[in-house]
Amino acid sequence: MTPRIVVSLKVVPKPEEVSLNPETRTLDRAGAENVLNPPDKNALEVALGLKDTHGGTVTLVSMGPPLFKDYLELCLGMGADQAILLSDRLFAGADTYPTSLTLARAIQKLGGYDLVICGEESADASTGQVPPGLAEWLGVPQITFVDEVRVQGDTVIARRALGSSYEVLEAEMPAVVSVVVGSNEPRFPDFDRVEAAAKSGWVKVWTAAELGLRDDEVGLKGSYTIVHDLVEGEPVERKRHFLQGSLEEKIRALAEALEPFLRP
Ligand SMILES: Cc1cc2nc3c(=O)[nH]c(=O)nc-3n(C[C@H](O)[C@H](O)[C@H](O)COP(=O)(O)OP(=O)(O)OC[C@H]3O[C@@H](n4cnc5c(N)ncnc54)[C@H](O)[C@@H]3O)c2cc1C
Repeated sequence: MTPRIVVSLKVVPKPEEVSLNPETRTLDRAGAENVLNPPDKNALEVALGLKDTHGGTVTLVSMGPPLFKDYLELCLGMGADQAILLSDRLFAGADTYPTSLTLARAIQKLGGYDLVICGEESADASTGQVPPGLAEWLGVPQITFVDEVRVQGDTVIARRALGSSYEVLEAEMPAVVSVVVGSNEPRFPDFDRVEAAAKSGWVKVWTAAELGLRDDEVGLKGSYTIVHDLVEGEPVERKRHFLQGSLEEKIRALAEALEPFLRP
């Protein structure tokens, strides 16, 4: 089979540059530099690797503001075939429920897919709920948190690390998988292709109306999460302990201090 792969990607503000607005109880992203969500780059690399092996197509979908377009063009430069940006003021403030619904509707509108590949979680909200949500809306099996993905006939086979062992899971396609960060080395984009994507407007934009979604199904109105309060945790104080005695005594004391943290 030549799989039709969809990669769902998100652009996130650099975590260290985001602050919380205590009055609105929302993330204050203004001014933060944006990056492609790190595990989503690994998800894209998995998709492009499968395309190298089996042929097929790689389609990108992302829900977010128009500035996401530049990042999708970069991904087109890496070898994806087409990109859809779901952008509409109505999508703003979406929690994971309408986010996954909106993405699922876009994937259904593509007119056929075999595998949806996501990152394990976003670097900003970090819920990890969108991939399972997508699988539920699409009514297909899911394999989450994997570091290797293979396709054999109409089956997807994926490997999940479990501490000191692995489990290998199979699902009939169409299916959704989510890929852990650092599981591969994402390729560099071809900058001529990035430029061509920008100049020729390869990224298509779809709105709520084009997805057949009502305004109370998307964005803030379609969200069930309400942030009632924000409590800042106490900063953790560093503990400093000076070891006394001879070198040997210090080494012994250090080994004893570390022992409770060592795995058997
Ligand atoms: C309590 C709470 C309050 C929040 N408040 C706000 C807020 O005020 N303003 C605000 O902007 N956001 C807010 N969010 C964030 C918003 O709900 C999420 O960013 C969004 O729903 C996606 O969830 P996630 O980032 O946890 O994705 P995850 O489920 O962690 O992402 C996993 C994977 O799903 C895919 N994915 C996720 N999002 C997208 C996307 N948009 N497009 C394409 N693929 C995607 C990617 O492959 C990603 O790696 C809040 C979240 C929570 C939990």
